[in-house]
Amino acid sequence: MKNSFQFSPFSFQFNVMELVEERSLNFIEQIVEKDLQEGKNDGRIQTRFPPEPNGYLHIGHVKAICMDFGIAEKYNGVCNLRFDDTNPVKEDVEYVDSIQQDIAWLGFKWGNIYYASDYFQQLYDLAIEFIKQGKAYIDEQTAEQIAEQKGTPTEPGVASPYRDRPIEENLRLFQAMQNGEIEDGKMVLRAKIDMANPNMHFRDPIMYRIITTHPHHRTGRTWNVYPMYDFAHGQSDYFEGVTHSICTLEFVVHRPLYDYYIDQFITGDYRPRQYEFNRLNITYTVMSKRKMLQLVKEGLVSGWDDPRMPTVCGLRRRGYTPEAIRAFIDKIGYTKVEGMIDLGLLEHTVRETLKETAPRVCAIFDPVKLVITNYEGEGETIVAENIDGHPELGTREMKFAKELYIERGDFQEEGDKKFFRLSPGGREVRLKAAYIIQATGCEKDAEGNITTVYATYDPDSKSGTEGGNRKTKSTINWVECNSCVDAEVRLYDRLFACENPSAEEGDFRDLLNPDSLKVVNCKIEGALKAEMKTPEVVDGIAKCNNYQFLKHGYFVVDPDTNNEKLVFNRTASLKDNWQK
Ligand code: ATP
Ligand code: MG
Repeated sequence: MKNSFQFSPFSFQFNVMELVEERSLNFIEQIVEKDLQEGKNDGRIQTRFPPEPNGYLHIGHVKAICMDFGIAEKYNGVCNLRFDDTNPVKEDVEYVDSIQQDIAWLGFKWGNIYYASDYFQQLYDLAIEFIKQGKAYIDEQTAEQIAEQKGTPTEPGVASPYRDRPIEENLRLFQAMQNGEIEDGKMVLRAKIDMANPNMHFRDPIMYRIITTHPHHRTGRTWNVYPMYDFAHGQSDYFEGVTHSICTLEFVVHRPLYDYYIDQFITGDYRPRQYEFNRLNITYTVMSKRKMLQLVKEGLVSGWDDPRMPTVCGLRRRGYTPEAIRAFIDKIGYTKVEGMIDLGLLEHTVRETLKETAPRVCAIFDPVKLVITNYEGEGETIVAENIDGHPELGTREMKFAKELYIERGDFQEEGDKKFFRLSPGGREVRLKAAYIIQATGCEKDAEGNITTVYATYDPDSKSGTEGGNRKTKSTINWVECNSCVDAEVRLYDRLFACENPSAEEGDFRDLLNPDSLKVVNCKIEGALKAEMKTPEVVDGIAKCNNYQFLKHGYFVVDPDTNNEKLVFNRTASLKDNWQK
């Protein structure tokens, strides 16, 4: 008896490991594992990512992508890409193409590409079946009238006067709708379910509407009627064999209708099931394609890929890597409660990833000339590590000579005790990766602005030599005057001035941050002349390198760069305000 309670360190450890493993599963993974254990759908796992091609993907979509593709990857399933193209008014091939590019860039692979429009015939036939079974009718009321009759969650709705029209008439009118004989908005097909149901989505939801104003980007003018989301989505999942149809929480209230439609025609054991997680919202931005489109159309940003936009292409142009974006999604996790994520966490994550990989270079933003009076000769080449202490990550050559540019702020004519950088009076300062110098004086123009700083150097203090180990209180950055290159630098800040623009009253465009873009010029070390060319485009995406400009932040080459000008975007400053 006593023995069975004995403490066994080995089994204890083992259990803790199991527990940790279990806790690290998100709630959808837990559902999937349970389904696999129970042998649901013959152990098959199939998901889909279903964007509507009416805009570019944003980081909110990435959260869904990481879930949909992630589940399939983890459980040996398949994730298909399905374009939810049921509204030709807003959709376009431009968006279809960009969505594929962005998903591939993020590093995910889909099984097949499907389109809801692939199922238009099947869905239409199914709708006719609904009509024949007395489960759908043609309503001739206006959208306003239909809305008025919906009732409220506590009051039942009012039945349409067309609700009980004969089946034959419904069939004839649906055909007339599709034939283009009925004007847009004059008729809709509604499911005949329950006008008193506490779930408002059951109060005779619209299944089909007429759209003749726009051709469809794939089916052209074949169709004059188009299915609504609720009627198209679950059926498309079913036609494809989706097992786990994962979406965001606003669809919780749609789930009973999703199941209802499937119940009407399902045969066999297989059925798709819908699960929901919390949307991603980030402070100081908007996460809606509709609003982003407005910003683009009205020229309030430079395009979908404006580096201030929360779109995947915007983040990419801003210098975010797929690793950084996916690490961020990993950090925030999946829950069943809506919330708001601090923009600081996204910025913190990109710093964390670029810190490991971005080569360091000197860039001088507010240059003043430094002349090293005792330096003789043509100059020399200094070999500097791309990332200090990591010779395996490569080196670059820096030209060093008598005349350099340093930051204006790194020199003070009358430096006080707390100023550890250049100032006459004997203090030693190291030039990054080069020599130790001492300021001797400066020259000013008529207005009193410093035009040149003078210094002497110690020839025995070169970094990498024995004398290079001598410590100084500070190190300053520099570029050599003749070999350095001018660059345009775009400094970005948050797109909106207030934390949650979507929660504010009034027009969201009035809340834009007027100081979200500042353009300055800087002088960069000559090694970056190699970047002065139009960036190579692979699979529709410009390949642009990331750098850390020492003391200034992370920067990326902008695709506006060509063989005449060098343009950089600031990805993030070095200062990290993120607190756990
Ligand atoms: P928007 O409101 O920006 O147009 P949407 O939900 O209409 O977004 P869809 O193209 O229909 O965009 O979305 C495709 C998938 O991405 C859906 O499964 C949707 O739930 C998911 N998704 C969209 N926005 C977010 C978000 N902010 N966070 C997480 N998932 C999202
Ligand atoms: Mg949508």
